[in-house]
Amino acid sequence: VETITVPDPGPGEALVRVQACGVCHTDLHYREGGIGDRFPYLLGHEAAGVVEQVGDGVTDVKPGDFVVLNWRAVCGSCRSCQRGRPWYCFNTHNAKQQMTLADGTPVAAALGIGAFAEKTLVAAGQCTIVDSETPATAAGLLGCGVMAGLGAAIHTGNVAAATRWPCSAAAAWATPRSPARRWPARRRSSPSTSTTASWSGPASSAPPTR
Ligand SMILES: [Zn+2]
Ligand SMILES: [Zn+2]
Repeated sequence: VETITVPDPGPGEALVRVQACGVCHTDLHYREGGIGDRFPYLLGHEAAGVVEQVGDGVTDVKPGDFVVLNWRAVCGSCRSCQRGRPWYCFNTHNAKQQMTLADGTPVAAALGIGAFAEKTLVAAGQCTIVDSETPATAAGLLGCGVMAGLGAAIHTGNVAAATRWPCSAAAAWATPRSPARRWPARRRSSPSTSTTASWSGPASSAPPTR
C-alpha cells in the first residue's frame, strides 16, 4: 500500500471518494507495460463513488452525488463530437493536475481514473451520476463494461437499444477472451421471440436474448 497525494480539485475537476473498483484485464496490461511506459501507474478504472469536492466551473456534479467514473469524457466541441460521433472524440478530458507519490513522483492514472485508492481526481465530465440506490460494486462495472462494449453491441452487433440484458454481457460478448461461449447453448434450448435483438454474427458467439 502506497500513500498517494491527491490535489484539491482545480477548475473542471472533481475529487471522488471511491466506494468500489473492479479489477479489469486492462489493469494487467498496464502492469505488464502493454499500454504505456509512464510508470508508476495508479490502476483501477471500473469505479463508483461519491463526489467529495469540485473545482471552479463545475456545475454538472456536486459534492454528495453518487457517480460512476468513465474514461472518456467527451469534449462536445471537436470535429467528431460536432458530427454527432462522440465515440471518436479527439479531445477527451481527464484531470489536469497529477496525483503523486509521497516523494513527489507523479503517478499516471490508468485510463485517466486511477481508482485503486480511497480518493481519486478526475475531470468532472468523467463523473456520471447514477441512482444512489445502486450498489457501488455493480455500478462501477458500468464504467468499463458499457464504455467498452455497448457501442460494439449496438453498432456492430445491431442489438436494439430496447433489448434487456445484463450490462456486463455487452463487454464480455465484445471481448474475444470473454466467457461468451456459455450463452449459445441456453439460446438454442429456449429460442426467444420476445426480444427485438438481431444478431448477424456467427451463431457460436450469439449474445443472450434477454
Ligand atoms: Zn476495464
Ligand atoms: Zn470531442
